[in-house]
Amino acid sequence: MSALTFTNARLVDLDKGALTPPTTVTVADGRIAGTGLPAGEGASVIDLAGATLMPGFIDCHFHVVAWSLDLWANIIAPDSLAALRAAQVMEELLAQGFTTVRDLGGADIGLVRGVSDGLIKGPDLVICGKGLSMTGGHTDLRQRTDIRPDALGGRLGNMGVLVDGVDDVRRACRKMLKEGARFIKVMANGGVSSPNDPIDGLQYSDDEIRAMVEEAGNANTYVSAHVYSDASIRRCVKLGVKSLEHCNLISAETAAMAAEAGCIAIPTLAAYEGLKREGAALGLGEAEQAKIDVVRDGGRNSLAHMRDAGLPMAFGTDLLGQLRKFGGLEFELLAQVLSPSEILSGMWDAGARLCRMEGEIGTMAPGARANLVAFDVDPFADIAALGRPEQHLKLVVKDGVIAHDRRAA
Ligand code: ZN
Ligand code: ZN
Repeated sequence: MSALTFTNARLVDLDKGALTPPTTVTVADGRIAGTGLPAGEGASVIDLAGATLMPGFIDCHFHVVAWSLDLWANIIAPDSLAALRAAQVMEELLAQGFTTVRDLGGADIGLVRGVSDGLIKGPDLVICGKGLSMTGGHTDLRQRTDIRPDALGGRLGNMGVLVDGVDDVRRACRKMLKEGARFIKVMANGGVSSPNDPIDGLQYSDDEIRAMVEEAGNANTYVSAHVYSDASIRRCVKLGVKSLEHCNLISAETAAMAAEAGCIAIPTLAAYEGLKREGAALGLGEAEQAKIDVVRDGGRNSLAHMRDAGLPMAFGTDLLGQLRKFGGLEFELLAQVLSPSEILSGMWDAGARLCRMEGEIGTMAPGARANLVAFDVDPFADIAALGRPEQHLKLVVKDGVIAHDRRAA
């Protein structure tokens, strides 16, 4: 495999909160060989002219099958169409610098293989299969008068599947894991994009969630829960859930309890900001719109509680359909509360832990996968610029191969 040497690369020092002086980074056989070493023999030399070279970005909360904000339209699309749409979404993500994406419901092993087999240029996907939702829960999109017994959980374009009862929950977990899930996702609280479930409602019984935690634990992995309300977060922490999605309404006390239990939170602020700005125009119903203000305004307070409690926070966006254009906002919204070092270490360290790829991604240590991005800005001076890849992203490297080169642009 070809070798690459990057010269005049400035690296991020998260402890100092500053860039290093320009140095050399060598890559061989798809992995980082070292920093400050002479160029390898026969290596292609790429002069970065002082640009910032960093580990590739990790989005820890995405749904690549959510092509449209009209979730029912995604579900009834033929699987072949849903797959082609997901491929385009994945290609967009890689072009924005995301070399790893944790999918929180929808993507299957076929999409993972599409990347690893070289059929499409996308990020590595870490999947959970379908999110588990109870009848009437967050992925039950049927209207109240809709009496169809099945919410089409088998379709590729569906983010979730309806499962009720401890035995069926166990079977569903085992099926997801057998089909390549790397963790289990549960909808444990009401949601914004679903019509019949208030966000202060708990979803699933304790026994059902305990069964998921046991099945995931038996497979040496963990459960991730969709949660907004403090009560739902607290219950999940007590039941052994480790990955806490959104957390918009978490209290300081619950944040401390989650930190103590070894949990990781994934705030997803850009999605609500996007919904606030354009949800109505994008066809979101009144019931859904009314929920947005609550979670959007809570999001910022939650960041301070989680930071103060020492609860690690990974980077996630949860951008569905037309909201994808707001992806760049996540850095800017996080920066209203967190420092650039806090945001980046959360994305790389907590992100690698959630993907269970510590040492492989989110680091430029020797031996790590050579997933890299180069930006022409100092993220410690302007972290929001990382959300404007069309202006500032110069290079994306995936497994030691240049995927996008915009140095001339
Ligand atoms: Zn969610
Ligand atoms: Zn989500």
